[in-house]
Amino acid sequence: MNRGMITLMCLGLSIGRVSDSLTERLLGEYIQEGRVVLRNTSKKVAAAFSDRKCYQCGCCCKEMPCLYGNWDEATQQCLYLEVAEEFSQYSTYRCSQYDTIVRQESTKKYPMFGGGCGRPLLNPDRDKIKQYKL
Ligand code: SF4
Ligand code: SF4
Repeated sequence: MNRGMITLMCLGLSIGRVSDSLTERLLGEYIQEGRVVLRNTSKKVAAAFSDRKCYQCGCCCKEMPCLYGNWDEATQQCLYLEVAEEFSQYSTYRCSQYDTIVRQESTKKYPMFGGGCGRPLLNPDRDKIKQYKL
C-alpha cells in the first residue's frame, strides 16, 4: 500500500469519527430541545388544568351538544345557548335550559353543571375572558 493510500484511509477514518461525534452532538441537542418542549408543554397543561372554572365562554356548546342539547346546523352551536353578557372584548354565554337540567339532575351524584371546564386547554375564547376577568 502506498503512502497516498494510507493518508487517504486515515483521513477517511478521522472524518468518520468527526461525523459520528457531530451526529451524537446533534442528537443530544435534539433530545435536550425535546425535553425542554415537553417540560414547557406539561407546565402549560398543568397550569390550564389547575383552573377548571367555567368562564361561560360557550365553547363546549359550540363544539357539540350535551345530553340535553339540540344542535343547530345553521349556527353550528346548541339551540339553547344564549348570550349572557356582551362586551367589546368578549361575550359570555348561558344555557337557557339551565334550571330544567339542574332539576332533572338533582339526584345525580355527578351532575353535569358544576363539574368544571372540560376545555381549559387551547380555548382562546375562555383565555380571553379569564384575561379580562382576573
Ligand atoms: S368551555 Fe369551559 S369555560 Fe367555556 S362554557 Fe364550556 S365549561 Fe365553561
Ligand atoms: S343544553 Fe345547554 S349546556 Fe347543553 S349544549 Fe345546549 S346550551 Fe350547552
